[in-house]
Amino acid sequence: MAINIDWEHITENSLDEELFCPICADPFEEPVCANQCGHTFCRRCIINTFRITSQCPACRHTLTIDDFHPVTTRPFLNQLNKILVKCKWCSQSNIPRGDFKDHIKTCTKIIISCPAANINCDWKGQPDQMQDHAEVCPLVKIQPTIVKLKTKVKQQSKQIHFLYTILKKISENHKEECQEVYTKNGIIYCDVCEKEFTIYEHDEWLHFCVDFLTFFFVIF
Ligand SMILES: [Zn+2]
Ligand SMILES: [Zn+2]
Ligand SMILES: [Zn+2]
Ligand SMILES: [Zn+2]
Ligand SMILES: [Zn+2]
Ligand SMILES: [Zn+2]
Repeated sequence: MAINIDWEHITENSLDEELFCPICADPFEEPVCANQCGHTFCRRCIINTFRITSQCPACRHTLTIDDFHPVTTRPFLNQLNKILVKCKWCSQSNIPRGDFKDHIKTCTKIIISCPAANINCDWKGQPDQMQDHAEVCPLVKIQPTIVKLKTKVKQQSKQIHFLYTILKKISENHKEECQEVYTKNGIIYCDVCEKEFTIYEHDEWLHFCVDFLTFFFVIF
């Protein structure tokens, strides 16, 4: 059985059998189909199946999960949308599946999370209790600030990463240039060892170049 947490079917007996998923034996939810063999399953059912196998459950054709594409045939989807369901939260019956999203927006019995759930408020309750909670929830108050900070940190790490790639590139180019110079002169002076070397003699390719980029070359 495909477990939908929000609704259950009420009209299964009168439905066309081609609307049923062979895996969960319920009417399709988000049907997906493989072009190779034409078999259709619920998206969630086939994802679960392909965790343990790589064969179509109906015909044993070897497939991967990427071979399945959402079914877009309008009449088929319309039929699924017309199936009547019952809301598990408020027990309202005879809701066409296609309208269920609208129902959930106005359902008074559904249990929802605090708007600050993403920053760890674990309050849950019905929509009419939400206003009261939101007024006293400290996490709701600081949420805008935290979101702003998170965005900033993300932007800055992107910038740092960008600068890092540039520096890396520059230091690599620089390394090549320096190598050319050394190869021509044959000799480098290392101001750490205070000695002259040929480029191949020195363990690390450190050198006397005062260009600050040399510094980065060394630490990368
Ligand atoms: Zn299914
Ligand atoms: Zn198949
Ligand atoms: Zn409801
Ligand atoms: Zn809260
Ligand atoms: Zn040295
Ligand atoms: Zn240099």
